[in-house]
Amino acid sequence: METTAAFTGLECVDCGTTFDAAEETHRCPGCGGILDPTYQYDAIDLDRETLESRPFDSMWRYEELLPFSRESATTMDEGATPLVDCPALADDLGVGRVLIKDEGRNPTGTFKDRGQTVAVTAATKHGASDVVLASAGNAGQAASAYAGRAGLDSHVYLPSRSGFTNKAMVNVHGGDMNVVGGRIGDAGTAYVEAREENDDWFPLQTFVTPYRHEGKKTMFYEIVEQLDWEVPDAITYPTGGGVGLIGMYKAATEFRDLGLIDELPGLYAAQASGCAPIVEAFEEGRDEHDPVETPDTICGGLEIPDPGASPWVLEALCETDGGAVSTDDPDILQAGVQVAKQEGLEMCPSSAAAASGAWELAERGEFGNDDTVVILNTGAGNKEADVLRSHLMSQGV
Ligand SMILES: *Cc1c(COP(=O)(O)O)cnc(C)c1O
Ligand SMILES: [Zn+2]
Repeated sequence: METTAAFTGLECVDCGTTFDAAEETHRCPGCGGILDPTYQYDAIDLDRETLESRPFDSMWRYEELLPFSRESATTMDEGATPLVDCPALADDLGVGRVLIKDEGRNPTGTFKDRGQTVAVTAATKHGASDVVLASAGNAGQAASAYAGRAGLDSHVYLPSRSGFTNKAMVNVHGGDMNVVGGRIGDAGTAYVEAREENDDWFPLQTFVTPYRHEGKKTMFYEIVEQLDWEVPDAITYPTGGGVGLIGMYKAATEFRDLGLIDELPGLYAAQASGCAPIVEAFEEGRDEHDPVETPDTICGGLEIPDPGASPWVLEALCETDGGAVSTDDPDILQAGVQVAKQEGLEMCPSSAAAASGAWELAERGEFGNDDTVVILNTGAGNKEADVLRSHLMSQGV
């Protein structure tokens, strides 16, 4: 299998066994743990000037730190999203600077594209003809888009709650769309059954493929480069399974080990209080979550009651001196509306949890007056404009 020069293979995060990426494709065959791509970092010769000299045109500009080359990737030039200064928000929060990383400007409108470009590329390298996943919505839309581009058939299992745009666009991309009654867990069961019947389908499922957090790590590389190599004091991240948060944690340690930065950013997991297993575990000082029995939030991307990678997410929060915060759905929607009103930026409800969480953290005195705070806008507001609008209607507007 053709890979980039420094990519060495996959390592199980639980038992530490290493594997040849040409042979293992998903979870650890020994213990079932998550596999994490590894590199020979001392063979990577990247300095700030080299990176700055490259056009800011795609997340694949960091290809030395990705498993596959840009040339061989299934890519639509995803990533390279703007980091937008939000002075009015900085005033509100009482901090030096607030910037929103606007992932809504990716090809299918969310940061899921960063994960799917790498995962679908892996599928093509392994000669897959079909890919499969269960998703709350955005990952399924992204997967069907990239699979279409690669000439693969995609099988997407979405819960009936997922938004209209997601369902419509899986069809438009030519995916095999399966709407499953119930919630994400029910879609997950249908996905498992489909895999049992079709063992040659290549899964693109969260933390089943080793490559989604790998793609999402590029968000952090971009943020520090966009800040002229200043590491932000805090990054608030709307957390479901924690794929992007783990990716950014990995990216920060990589950049530190490569000598590109000196410290790690404080990583903060923001969740909706109707489904906040990570926040609860963090607050109770546990190193693993307890599944939420009856999850209920309007933030579909965050309604993940049983996030299997929680030990890794909690490690990231602790090791970076970050934290965790949950807020209620009405406050989340209000935050999304307020950001749209005063900064112009459109956040979907799940992402708005990161803005609402930042407000709550500021109120708790978590930030200093000079801090630089980055809020991840993981998805575009127009994915769920109806939900944002109905919040205004609930206020009689
Ligand atoms: C998937 C998703 C999330 C949660 O992402 P994880 O990396 O699984 O925590 C947050 N926001 C949006 C818009 C999403 O689609
Ligand atoms: Zn293992």
